[in-house]
Amino acid sequence: MTSPNQKSDPIFAPISGPAFTAPELPTYESLMDCIRCGRCLPVCPTYQQTTLETFSPRGRLSLMRAVEDGKLDLADPGVEEHLYHCLDCRACNTVCPAGIPIGELIVEGRAAVEEKHPRAWLIRLILTHALISPRRIEWFAWPARLAQRVKLDKLGVAMFGWVPRFGPALKDLVQMAPTLPKPLWRELAKPARSLQVVAQKNGSSETSQVSQSQYRVGFFLGCVMNVAFGDASRASVKVLKQFGCDVITPQDQMCCGAPQDDQGMKDVARRMAKRNIEAFEKLGQLDAIVADCAACSGFLKEYAHVFHDDPAWAERADRFASKVRDVTEWLDQIMPSDWPASAGATKSITYHEPCHLANVQGVRRQPRALLMRLKNKGVDVRELPDATRCCGSAGIYNMTHPAMSKELLDRKMADVVSTGAEVVVSANPGCLLQLEWGAKRTGSTVKVKHITQVLAEAIEERTAQ
Ligand code: SF4
Ligand code: SF4
Repeated sequence: MTSPNQKSDPIFAPISGPAFTAPELPTYESLMDCIRCGRCLPVCPTYQQTTLETFSPRGRLSLMRAVEDGKLDLADPGVEEHLYHCLDCRACNTVCPAGIPIGELIVEGRAAVEEKHPRAWLIRLILTHALISPRRIEWFAWPARLAQRVKLDKLGVAMFGWVPRFGPALKDLVQMAPTLPKPLWRELAKPARSLQVVAQKNGSSETSQVSQSQYRVGFFLGCVMNVAFGDASRASVKVLKQFGCDVITPQDQMCCGAPQDDQGMKDVARRMAKRNIEAFEKLGQLDAIVADCAACSGFLKEYAHVFHDDPAWAERADRFASKVRDVTEWLDQIMPSDWPASAGATKSITYHEPCHLANVQGVRRQPRALLMRLKNKGVDVRELPDATRCCGSAGIYNMTHPAMSKELLDRKMADVVSTGAEVVVSANPGCLLQLEWGAKRTGSTVKVKHITQVLAEAIEERTAQ
């Protein structure tokens, strides 16, 4: 049987397939587009680490083609291993002269594998019950918060750190976990009155900003941002309000669906997407839907593609996706070029580019333009070598593939340290978490912050003057 997306010409027909029966890609035709030029190899982090063809974008496409040709069984554990060994960083997409959406094809391949081999029960549990909304993740985070407060996490490592296999994973998890701040969800998902209360708590100047808003912005709060980087999202909201945004978050907002999509659980990701489209539609007319998590903003923009073949949702998804802006994009658009008026406390900064901001969304200039505003006020902004190379976080990759993740992290930290910058900024919770872990692993004193945190600090300094 030939997929509707495939040409009828037999040259584009799989020998024995199609094995990939998911309604989306990959089609055999798209797998055939590879001209085997090899340009994708040097930019692929997993190929850089191993120099093995099977760990390269080209190799992964060949693997999927071999499945379609019946040379490999989709249920073969090797197929699963190499498709899930990809970071979904999409660096390959940016250099492929044939324009193959390699990263997307690999993720689609995972969806087909997932039908044969569902992900491990723990991964499914996390992605279907915990990481499903900012409020739900709070429930699951409180035991960790309590454990940190009474130092149970450290005690656990002392008691069980020696246990083979389990011990090292526990040590990594405890070291990786950031000190959990107060979550932001309850402050945000309330009517406008509470926004004013928050504003008054943070300084009287903001109260007038709420009433004089120029823009009506739906703020999408990422699940991990809420529990692990609530202070960074607080800074994002503060800066948005400072520049004339009325910030609204719907109470029924869900996870964006990116972690589920990344793990091949497309049905779950679609359910999240539908709930989010409905939730933001209820807010009425918005100038933008802004997220300060690059993985979220990247996937929210992909909703148009997620529903492109669903007549009931395509138009609504397209309308939703067209409004989505990463916070760095939106701030660059609305923030006057002579802002901020002062540099803030930070003396030197370097910037690690999230893959899902640079490679997926093509947002490279705007975060740098925001940092240039600080440079104009005297901050020493230093370019990070190979800034876009993945730090090894990649969703839950640092837990599913700890060895590769640590290799990539140690390379990234060596680059960060080589800049001599006092602060490394980024714009994605996975990167922030990974870089903080890297600083602990290497004993580096570099501070890790979201871009909006350094902007908020500069604004605070001006307010204090
Ligand atoms: S860059 Fe594109 S065409 Fe070239 S080998 Fe890689 S996937 Fe194939
Ligand atoms: S998405 Fe990243 S890790 Fe995966 S094949 Fe492409 S470059 Fe390699």
